[in-house]
Amino acid sequence: MESAKEIWKTALDKLQIQVSKANYTTWLSNSQGISCQDDIFVVSVPSIFAAEWLSKRLYPLVRKTLVDIMGKDIDVQFVVDHHEQPRQVGATPLASQTDGGTSSRATQYRFNPRYTFDNFVVSDSNRLAYAAAVEVAENPGSSYNPLFIHSSTGQGKTHLLHAIGHLTTNNGLQATYITAEQFANEFVLAVRENQVDKFRSKFRNIHVLLFDDVHFLIDKKQTLQCFFHTFNELYNNNRQIVITADCAPKDMQPLSSKLKSRLEGGLVVDIQPPDFETRLNILRAKAETMMTSELEGVLHIIAEKVCENVRQLEGALVYLTAQAKLSGTKVTPETINKLLTGTSSRQDIKLLLQTVADHFRISTEELINKKRDRKTTLARHIAIYLMREGYNCSLSEIGKELGGRNHATILHGYEKIASELSTNPNLSNQIEEIKEKINSLKGYRTVYQTV
Ligand code: ADP
Ligand code: MG
Repeated sequence: MESAKEIWKTALDKLQIQVSKANYTTWLSNSQGISCQDDIFVVSVPSIFAAEWLSKRLYPLVRKTLVDIMGKDIDVQFVVDHHEQPRQVGATPLASQTDGGTSSRATQYRFNPRYTFDNFVVSDSNRLAYAAAVEVAENPGSSYNPLFIHSSTGQGKTHLLHAIGHLTTNNGLQATYITAEQFANEFVLAVRENQVDKFRSKFRNIHVLLFDDVHFLIDKKQTLQCFFHTFNELYNNNRQIVITADCAPKDMQPLSSKLKSRLEGGLVVDIQPPDFETRLNILRAKAETMMTSELEGVLHIIAEKVCENVRQLEGALVYLTAQAKLSGTKVTPETINKLLTGTSSRQDIKLLLQTVADHFRISTEELINKKRDRKTTLARHIAIYLMREGYNCSLSEIGKELGGRNHATILHGYEKIASELSTNPNLSNQIEEIKEKINSLKGYRTVYQTV
């Protein structure tokens, strides 16, 4: 079996051909394969920006490349190589620290080193969720069980799960973090291979289950059933369960009342979007590396302009910092305005439609109007998907851009691509290719965009 280092070298050779030269040099050339354990391939990169950028932008392509090379399904994690152990969190660990041998290193890296309690900015909007997370991390299984945290996207749910993971593993417990999507994928695979018992047994001996985005399972009956069993088994053994979702259990309509009441049986807390002061504090905490002499002014403007969620705040900061670094200029209140305004201007949408149409060798009129042959329909669905992913356009905005189509049609197109993407490498390659084209047309500005 080749080492992670060698496998990653092969992957880099393949990736080099598929991404633009600038992107390769900036984000990939200094990366290294660190380990591959339990089907998680860990890649170390020199900076937080690279880790963020790669996770946001190249994850599907990198994963696919590694899956092709290794001939099996694996997940990829990008971690920052600080040449040191991730910072220890909270109270002094009970056990003396492990010796940094390969297995303990891999276990530690499962949790994002940045997602710690120390790095979480506490405010009124998230105080309860934070306090509950600290409580269950310090006294797992004995206070709130399950702990259920819900919020809209980008408000720190995953961050808190990882923080619990850090603290509990430092205290010598076995904590497992899994997204509902991973759980569903693994379950489907286990069913196919007649290995459901083996799959379930993976969870049997853990002390803490950190289950992210449970809403993903809402319409997956069989997987839910399996989750329910796993949940009950752990719960009955006093193991701590922490679950996140985009809404409260009571609002998950199709869930059985039995499961709902299970999920509600401990403590349910929500996280609200941060107010201006909190946004500013988060930016202050994250802006250490920003090259500017007018930091406070710059941060004020970002906090004012970017309101929706913390992920976007970070995105704006990463983008501006990268911009400053690459161009060697300083970010000032003036440049910031220019950079952050009109992130999804008509111009951007026009460019996107044009690029998609060109890719399929059709005209933008055909893309927008009624033509319904297979090729044009696919192109239209991809355009919908990219508008939503890259520019966060609402369904009705997209409908308007595409000749007045209704909300349901747009949603159908988006969901079709989103659901096919993970199973259809051909489609995913095509989309990556179009994204690359859009990126190269838009220069470094795209660091801020998902496209
Ligand atoms: P969610 O899981 O709710 O969608 P994440 O946990 O992925 O959100 O958070 C998105 C990004 O914002 C992460 O990089 C996370 O570290 C950061 N973040 C969110 N809330 C906070 C906070 N209160 N303090 C510091 N960083 C935060
Ligand atoms: Mg999350």
